Amino acid sequence: MRTPMVVANWKMHGRLAEARELAQAVRDGLKRPRGVEVAICPPFTALAAVAEVLAGSPLMLGAQNCHWEESGAFTGEVSPAMLAELGCRLVVLGHSERRHISRETDEEISRKVAAALRHRLQPVLCVGETAEERRQGLTFTVVEGQLRAGLAGLPAEDLVRCTIAYEPVWAIGTGLTATPSQAAEVHGYLRGLLSELGSKESAQAVRILYGGSVKPDNAGLFSQEPEIDGALVGGASLQAASFITIAKKSAAKSGASKE
Ligand code: PEP
Repeated sequence: MRTPMVVANWKMHGRLAEARELAQAVRDGLKRPRGVEVAICPPFTALAAVAEVLAGSPLMLGAQNCHWEESGAFTGEVSPAMLAELGCRLVVLGHSERRHISRETDEEISRKVAAALRHRLQPVLCVGETAEERRQGLTFTVVEGQLRAGLAGLPAEDLVRCTIAYEPVWAIGTGLTATPSQAAEVHGYLRGLLSELGSKESAQAVRILYGGSVKPDNAGLFSQEPEIDGALVGGASLQAASFITIAKKSAAKSGASKE
């Protein structure tokens, strides 16, 4: 029912020549990915160049953020319509670096999710607790708040068009990872909440990715967990060989989907 997905988040890396080269290498290494969907999210400035490289390949183009308005006096912002026009199929929203560094609020993230859906972009809504919140036993409270707020007001039929990424903040870019069972526990909790927000069937259709220092040597462990439907990959997506290995290790066995 759920084909795993692996999403490369290049963050603020990749001038044009590097972006083209990296996208070409990933495209060539994943000509016909089986049992996994693959997306690349370069910085805004490289979207058009990477779109050209990915044209005709099964790899999807995504963005790392968007605004909630169509157009207007929002200096420095990029609208979902602009991303859709460039060929983006998905957009990462509520990444912890935007929540913590750019001080994005749950309310803003929720508006972005709704706006992305209006433009047929698949939102990849990120949720995750800090180390201190985990230490205080607040992991479930925090991710529940972020999930409920991020999806607030969406009709049930729109829930299935969203992807969730559980990204514990303490694991992003640190080399620390949640254990597959720690991650699976949170994923199971999130799926329970999705059932409440929509229905059991719609919750079963929503992909929940894990993100946080996923590397070629641990990707296979996460993919063995039935509740983990792929990965959001930061640092390791900047090396084509690493990202290709992660994508292959995240594929459902025998090309089948997860239930
Ligand atoms: C991320 O940026 O979403 C991420 C998970 O980064 P990293 O893989 O480097 O931890």
